[in-house]
Amino acid sequence: MSTLQRLFKFNGGVKPAYNKEASTGLPIAVAPTPTLLVIPLHQSIGGMPRPLVKTGERVLKGQRIGSADGNVSSAVHASTSGTVMAVEMRLMPHTSGLSALCVVIEPDGRDEWIPRQPFDFRSALPAQILDYLRDAGVVGLGGAVFPSYIKLNPGQQRKLDTLVLNGAECEPFITCDDVLMRERAATILKGALIMREMLNAGRVLIGIEDNKPEAIAAMKVAAQAINGAAGDSAIQVASVPTLYPAGGAKQLIRVLTGIEVPHGKRSTDYGVQCFNVGTAYAIFEAVTLGQPLISRIVTVAGNVGQARNFEVLLGTPMRDLIALCSPLPDSDRVVMGGPMMGLRMPDDSVPVVKATNCVLVGSKALFPPPPAEMPCIRCGDCAKVCPADLQPFELYWFSRAKVFGKAQEYSLFDCIECGCCAYVCPSHIPLVDYYRFAKSEIWARELEKKSADEARERYEFRLLREEQEKQEHAAKLAAKAAARRAKAAAAAADATKSVANTEQEAKKALIAAALERAREQKVQVQPENTRNLTPEQEAEVAAIEARRAEIREMAKPHLWQDD
Ligand code: SF4
Ligand code: SF4
Repeated sequence: MSTLQRLFKFNGGVKPAYNKEASTGLPIAVAPTPTLLVIPLHQSIGGMPRPLVKTGERVLKGQRIGSADGNVSSAVHASTSGTVMAVEMRLMPHTSGLSALCVVIEPDGRDEWIPRQPFDFRSALPAQILDYLRDAGVVGLGGAVFPSYIKLNPGQQRKLDTLVLNGAECEPFITCDDVLMRERAATILKGALIMREMLNAGRVLIGIEDNKPEAIAAMKVAAQAINGAAGDSAIQVASVPTLYPAGGAKQLIRVLTGIEVPHGKRSTDYGVQCFNVGTAYAIFEAVTLGQPLISRIVTVAGNVGQARNFEVLLGTPMRDLIALCSPLPDSDRVVMGGPMMGLRMPDDSVPVVKATNCVLVGSKALFPPPPAEMPCIRCGDCAKVCPADLQPFELYWFSRAKVFGKAQEYSLFDCIECGCCAYVCPSHIPLVDYYRFAKSEIWARELEKKSADEARERYEFRLLREEQEKQEHAAKLAAKAAARRAKAAAAAADATKSVANTEQEAKKALIAAALERAREQKVQVQPENTRNLTPEQEAEVAAIEARRAEIREMAKPHLWQDD
C-alpha cells in the first residue's frame, strides 16, 4: 500500500485562484545557456560564501566558485564552463534593489564538466556527509533555501520517525514541483531514500495537493516500485486537499501526521523532518551523480503568450527566460515566486538563483492595484484564516506603531508571510508588508546591537592592550634603569676593591721590607755574637745564660704563696 489512509486539517487557509494549467501543458524544456551568467555568491540562508575565483580565470561546469563561510552557509558553483569576466557587485533578485557580490562568467559553449564521481555516503563519517552536501551547494528548493546539510543531520536522537516530502506546491501560478514529479518521480524517490538513510528515518510521507492528479499518479507508481522491491510500504503518497498554504512545512506535517508543531519548536523535536521534492532530486544528483546544484526547474508564467517550465542554469538573467515565453506588451513587472508570497524584482535583468521557483510576469490587468488602505475595523477575519494561529491584527498594530518588542511577544517570527490575512482583509491593509517591515527592523536593530557590542568589545580590548603595552614599556624602562644602576655599582665596587688591593699591597710591601731589614740586621748581629767564640766560650756563655734563667725563675712569685 503506497497511499496514506488518514489525513488531518490545519487551521485557517484560503482558496485563491490557482492559475496553474497554463504552464503544465508542455514538458520541461532546457533553457539555452545565456551569453553571460551572473552568479550571486549569496544564494542561501546564512553566511556569504567567499569567492574562490578571479577575473580572467577559466572555470569548468560544476567548479566551486564560492566556498561556504560559517556554520550556516552553502557553496556556489559555475553553471557552465567559461571565463570569469568579473567578480563584482551586481543587482540582486530582491525587492530592496540592493547589489551583492557576483561571479560573472562568459560561457565558452563547451559545457565542460569537472570530473564527477558518486559520493559513497554509507562508508563516510557523518561529518564528511555534511561537508560534502555543504560543498555541493544543496539547499531547500521550496523557496526557503536553507542549507540541506544542516537539516540532514539526525542530531542527538540519531533517528527520526518520518521524512515528509513536500509536493503540495500550493501557491498560485507555480508548477515547477508538479512537472518535476510528473516527469522525474523515480529520481525524486531515489533522493528521498538517500535522505531517509542519512536521517535514519522510518517512513517517507509525500504530500501532494489534489489539484495535481498526474503528479500524484506518477509518484504512486514510483513508490509502488520501491515498496514492492523492499517488500514493505515505507513510502506513502498522500493526495491532500487543495487549500493555501498546505505547502507550509508545519501545515503539511499537521495534515500528514496530525502533529501540531508549537510556536518556537522544531518538527525534529517531534521526530519529523520535511524537504521539498526538488531538494530530494538535487540530493540524488549530488550524491549519486557527483553533480553540485547548478540548475533548477523554474516556472515562467503570468502575462506571457506561453507559460512553461524550464530547467535553468543558475545565473541566467530572468529576461532571457521571459523572452522564451512571448511576454505580452503591457507587462509592467516581474515577481520572483507567486502572487501570495513572491517578491517584486527591481528589473528583469536579475539572475535566476536557487530560490527562484517562478518568474511571474505581471501587468495592471493581471494584478490590478489594490484599493486604498482603510483603517482596521477589528473584524477578526485575518485571525480566522491564519494558518500559524496568530493574531494578525495585533501584529499589525504593534508593527505599525513600531512596538517591536510586543510584536515579538505575539510571535511575529512564527508568521510564514503566507498572505492569507491580507487576502481576506476587508480594509485592504497590506498586512504582510507591515510584518516584513517589523521583522527587518528587528533584525537591523539586532545587527546594530551586535555591531555596537562588537565595537565596544573591540574598544575595551584596545584599552586593555594599550594598558598592557604601557605596563610592559614601564617594566622595560625599570629593568634598563636597574641594569644601569647595577652596572654602576659593580664599577664602583671594582674601584674600591682595586684601591683596597693597592693599599693592602703597599702594606704587604712595607711589612716585607721591614722583615727583610730585620733579617738583614739579625744576620749582621748574630755572627758577631757567636761566630768568633770558641766552644769553651760558648759553653761558658750558655752556663751564664742558664744561671740567669735560674735566678729569673726564683724571682717569680710562687702560686701557693699568700701575701
Ligand atoms: S481583517 Fe483587516 S480589518 Fe479585519 S481585523 Fe484583520 S486587519 Fe483588521
Ligand atoms: S501572513 Fe502571517 S499573520 Fe498573516 S495569515 Fe499568514 S502567517 Fe498569519
